[in-house]
Amino acid sequence: MRGDEARAEKLRAMTITPGQAGSARLEEVREPPRSEGAVLVRTLALGVCGTDREIAAGHYGSAPAGEQRLIIGHESLGTVEEAPDGSGFAHGDLLVGIVRRPDPVPCPACAAGEWDMCRNGRYTERGIKDRNGYGAERFRVEPEFAVKIDPALGALGVLLEPASIVAKAWEHITRIGERGAGWQPRTLLVTGAGPIGLLAALMGKQRGLDVHVFDRAKNGVKPTLVRDLGATYHADGPESIEHLTPDIIMECTAAPAVINFLLGRTAATGITCLTGVSNPGRTVALDIGRLNRSLVLDNDVVFGSVNANRRHYKSAADALARADRQWLGRLITRRVPLERWTEALEAHPDDIKVVIDVAQA
Ligand SMILES: [Zn+2]
Repeated sequence: MRGDEARAEKLRAMTITPGQAGSARLEEVREPPRSEGAVLVRTLALGVCGTDREIAAGHYGSAPAGEQRLIIGHESLGTVEEAPDGSGFAHGDLLVGIVRRPDPVPCPACAAGEWDMCRNGRYTERGIKDRNGYGAERFRVEPEFAVKIDPALGALGVLLEPASIVAKAWEHITRIGERGAGWQPRTLLVTGAGPIGLLAALMGKQRGLDVHVFDRAKNGVKPTLVRDLGATYHADGPESIEHLTPDIIMECTAAPAVINFLLGRTAATGITCLTGVSNPGRTVALDIGRLNRSLVLDNDVVFGSVNANRRHYKSAADALARADRQWLGRLITRRVPLERWTEALEAHPDDIKVVIDVAQA
């Protein structure tokens, strides 16, 4: 049988030794253990993000207990090879694996299926924290931590994980906004035109907002993508967005100077959502009196948002299904074959989303 022959082979995988910069390599690993889930998946593609680069640089990430090595890759897309009856999956289905698993206690949030809101920090994450990722030629996943992808979306399904992060942020923005009866947002400012920022802008347009995107890139594909969305692009420094008083800000640069500039700039009852992870240690001058005054007198909210639960993957899948596929396809600016996957970790100036091609559909 083809499957059994395949099982005897070793699989190529993307591995790193956590804490050790420059350890990213292509390595042969054993077939994924059954304990990782009943659904066996043939990997098609993996997206690479800043977290992968942080792990590869030795700043982040941890291997499964008792192991030195971590298989990375958390933005997955694959096709089902084997799934048990009643799992909701069948041979040939397109699938994306959910990244986070609830903590073992579990805390009240994880117990309620909101592992993205974990209270004790003991959650685990595929390819990031204490669990091997999806970055091998085959992976296994539990059916309850997998999301079926509409065949119409096809290879663009690799954008589901980053889109889930944005869908979670939007859900929380909406919930915060609705604390007041009169909340009718009109203007959205997104800072940073990477994959998260552009998907945030897309979902802002889907909500009928007047969308503005701020980034450093003066040319290349970013301004065009923003304009093709029907949004306004600003690249002439913070002065270019000084005139805006957005109802919602989605901060996706993690740059301290940008965050400092933004805080307190929303309209009354404004909401600022921080989505980027920055490194500590950079000090900027902050007028906390001005900021406090503005937040209090305007009922403003500044909050952070990370990760996503199953509900957010579903709403991200809906958002991607409604988007222009040609536009979504242009978010993938570079593809690298598995043999040369470490090249995907390099940052090229025109990169938006870099994808590692593992197999043909
Ligand atoms: Zn928890």
